[in-house]
Amino acid sequence: MDLVTIRTFQNYFSTHILLTKLRHEGIECYLKDEFTITVDPFLSNAVGGIKLVVKQKDEQEACELLRLFDEEYRNSVACPKCGSHSIELVPKRTTANMITAILSWLLGDYAVSAENIYQCSSCKFESATLPENYHNNPQVHESRELN
Ligand SMILES: [Zn+2]
Repeated sequence: MDLVTIRTFQNYFSTHILLTKLRHEGIECYLKDEFTITVDPFLSNAVGGIKLVVKQKDEQEACELLRLFDEEYRNSVACPKCGSHSIELVPKRTTANMITAILSWLLGDYAVSAENIYQCSSCKFESATLPENYHNNPQVHESRELN
């Protein structure tokens, strides 16, 4: 059985949300290196994070679903600074790098994940941690209240 990694996470919580959602859509998927991360989060860089893996035949469908989940998630999250829902995934250092931006949109952010950051297209607020706050994470509400 050929397994492919469709995304790598540093966060146990958001990984499990996506795992559950993919399984709900009928995709057989697994987590790799999960145990190491849970025991010691500081080891996550050493082992490359938590890998979400699927069967090769499901890769395309799973990636498409992840993209939809991301879109759904971005639409549900407001910018902590200005309240806009226009949160986009952009390359970290330069927004001029359109090829990288387009590729990451087409292929999923796992392709260039280390170089990406979430940015509000209204006020240019940037956050690397936003994608980890999947659904009902108390931290999201806290940052809204601070506004
Ligand atoms: Zn904003």
